[in-house]
This record gives sequence, structure tokens and C-alpha cells, in this order.
Amino acid sequence: MVGSTILKLDGLSKNFGAFQALQNISLEIFEGEFLTIVGPSGSGKTTLIRLLVGMDEPTEGEIRLRGKRIEGTPANKRPTCMVFQSLALFPHKTVGQNIEFPLKIRREPQDRRQERANELLDLLRLPRDYYHKRIAQCSGGEQQRVALARALAFDPEILFFDEPLSALDYRLRKALEKELKDLHERTGKTFVYITHSLEEAMVMSDRIAIMNAGQFEQIATADQIYAKPVSKFVAEFMGEVNLFDIDGSERSGIAASALHSRENLNLGLVDDEFGTLMVRPEFIRQIDGEGNSDFWVFGKLRAEYLLGSRLHYEFECKDGTTLTVEKLREDRLSCVAGDEVLLGWDVENTHLIRSGG
Ligand code: ADP
Ligand code: MG
Repeated sequence: MVGSTILKLDGLSKNFGAFQALQNISLEIFEGEFLTIVGPSGSGKTTLIRLLVGMDEPTEGEIRLRGKRIEGTPANKRPTCMVFQSLALFPHKTVGQNIEFPLKIRREPQDRRQERANELLDLLRLPRDYYHKRIAQCSGGEQQRVALARALAFDPEILFFDEPLSALDYRLRKALEKELKDLHERTGKTFVYITHSLEEAMVMSDRIAIMNAGQFEQIATADQIYAKPVSKFVAEFMGEVNLFDIDGSERSGIAASALHSRENLNLGLVDDEFGTLMVRPEFIRQIDGEGNSDFWVFGKLRAEYLLGSRLHYEFECKDGTTLTVEKLREDRLSCVAGDEVLLGWDVENTHLIRSGG
């Protein structure tokens, strides 16, 4: 259950000398939500999360935890906890000693510590006899779970994660993504997760914030971001996409030379407005004649790629641009490289990104 605002960032900026790593960031994080911040390398994700946990101070702006300003409070005085990519476990100590570390700092008695460690082993689905196992003898995935158990032993109000799975191999990463989502549901805690992998964000999150060059481009659910991106950056970041420039002053509304559309199609652009028309590859189909769909292009098949259960087709349009089409394996297109075909899609499967006028 997602509740009231737990953390509020207001006008946060961070400068390193003349370089502005974060520019006027504002965001509300809700109690119990799983929020993921996604962005390319160097976009400012780690810088932001360091401010949120108290490892660094903002140049400007406020951070409020349940209404109380905390931007000057050091990390060890905040009820938050960070899980890093490098797990920072004590390799020569046991799993139990690692998990109990936060409880030891708080001077909890040994029997209470061990009881809690066992509960956390159960929660993370590690066998209880791992309590005595050394970290160095655990696999990568097990170590990741121990790090999570230790983070939970702090009993933080918010857990922050900075790309904790990026060093793991694909299968383990996939398994842990699901476990993290499940752990979030079982603990009811607020999770703020950073990744550069969109797939990871889509699997786990309630909301996704897309970061680009120190600013948020869009904050919304995965579905909204996928179907209705606010910018070309977001559209392209969210997987394969076909984009066409459109121009409200053209009679057809279409500036892209290879694209045709049914007459009197209302794209929602007024005169001198510009925009980009987006269509995802899975909405494009092979059609028999011009006008059998709202939009169409002539495309020459350049290449076909098999991606497990799906296929990607790359077509070359008349103006040299590329059109990507996606089909399920069982809906394979009946054309071979070099064939020219008509490809169409309908207006309800498009999205207009306005860019002004
Ligand atoms: P991300 O985590 O999204 O990959 P970072 O937040 O680590 O990005 O970095 C954002 C930008 O800020 C990068 O250009 C990086 O070089 C710069 N940066 C980060 N930390 C420092 C620092 N301590 N001093 C100078 N520049 C920094
Ligand atoms: Mg980083």
C-alpha cells in the first residue's frame, strides 16, 4: 500500500566546481512505494542518492523526511540505509555476524540479535545454517541476499539501492529482481532503486523517474512512460521505437517524406506546431494496399533478427530511414531480405510528442 509523502525533494542542485551534476530536482516519494530512478551512466543518479542518504550535501535545495528538513543531517543520523553495488560485506566474518552488525552497533543483546538474524535469513530465503557460514564461502547471489538482510537489520524507513545487481550475471539478476520486488511487498518498506537498466526498472517499480543530464525528464508508471513518453529521449530510452517528425503547417501534417496517412486524419496538432509521432514496433503490420490503415510506408526488408519468442525486422523506407517492426514468432512476416512491402498502423497506436511551434 502506497501512502503519504515520506521524502520530499525540493529544488535540489549539486555542483562540483563549475559542473552542475543535478539541476533543480523536485520529487515526492510516497510511503511504501517502489520508486526506480533510471538514466544513462553519468546522468546524476549516484549523486542524487548520495544526497538522499546523507553521504553528501546539496549545493541548493531542501530534503524533507516526513516534513522535517534533513539535508544537513549526516548518514548515520538518518533512518535510511543504502545497498551498494559493491556489497561492502565483511568477507572473513560469518553471515550471522554480517547481518547482526547493525544490531551490534545498537548494543542489542546477543540472543535478540541471533533471533532477528534468523528471521532475516528466513525472509531472504537463506537456510538458517548459513548463520555460521563465512561470506567468502557464499556465492554471489547469496552474498547479495546477505547484504539485503543486513540492510533490513538496520530497520530503515527507506532503503536506497544503487545498482546492486549490475555486477551479477543475467540469470541471477533476473531472479533477484523478482525477489526484490517480492521483498518489497513483504516488508512494506519504501524502496528507492537506481539502475541504468530499464528492464530492471519495469519489472520492479510502482513508478519510474527517468533522469537525463541531472534532471528528471518524466516521472510516471512504467506503462505510462512506455506508451506516452513526454520526450524523444524518454521514448528512445524505453526500448525500440519509430519516430516521425510532424509539422502542423503541412497539409497532411506530416513532414517525414516516407510516411503516408489517410486524409483528414486528426493528429491533434494546430498550425505551426511541431511534434514527433511515435509508434512502437509491435503495432506495425503488413498491409495489402495503401489506405488499409491510418498510416503506411513502403519498406524494403533489410534484416530479420530472432530474439527468442519475438522477431525484429528492420525495413528501409524510401527516404533511407529505418522502420523497426516486431512480431511474435508465430506471427512471422512472409517476406525475405530485399522484398518491398507495405507496412501500416493505426492512429490509436501512436503517441504524439509535442515539441512546440
Ligand atoms: P550516474 O550515477 O548516473 O552514472 P553520477 O551521479 O555518478 O552519475 O555522476 C554524474 C556526473 O557528476 C558525472 O559527470 C560525474 O563525472 C560527476 N561527478 C560525480 N561525482 C563527482 C565528484 N565528486 N566530483 C566531480 N564530479 C563528479
Ligand atoms: Mg552511479
